[in-house]
Amino acid sequence: MRTCEEFAHDVTDYIDGKMTLGPRMSMILHATICSSCRAYRRQIELVRNLAGELKTSQEPTEETVDELAELFTNSQ
Ligand SMILES: [Zn+2]
Repeated sequence: MRTCEEFAHDVTDYIDGKMTLGPRMSMILHATICSSCRAYRRQIELVRNLAGELKTSQEPTEETVDELAELFTNSQ
C-alpha cells in the first residue's frame, strides 16, 4: 500500500497519465481510502487545468475564477 507521501510525490505523473498500470492501481486504491489525498489530487488537477486555460486564453473565464476561489478557500 502506498503512503500519503508517496501518493503526493507521484500525483503529477498519475494526472499526466505517465504511470504504468500497477502503480496507477495503487494510486487509485490509496485515493479510495484516503480522503485527504483525494482532495490533494483534486487541487493539483485544478491547478493543471487552470494552467492549461491560461495558456489558451488571455481572459480567465468566470468558471475559472470560481474554481480558483474555491481552491484557495479549501486550502486555508
Ligand atoms: Zn493519503
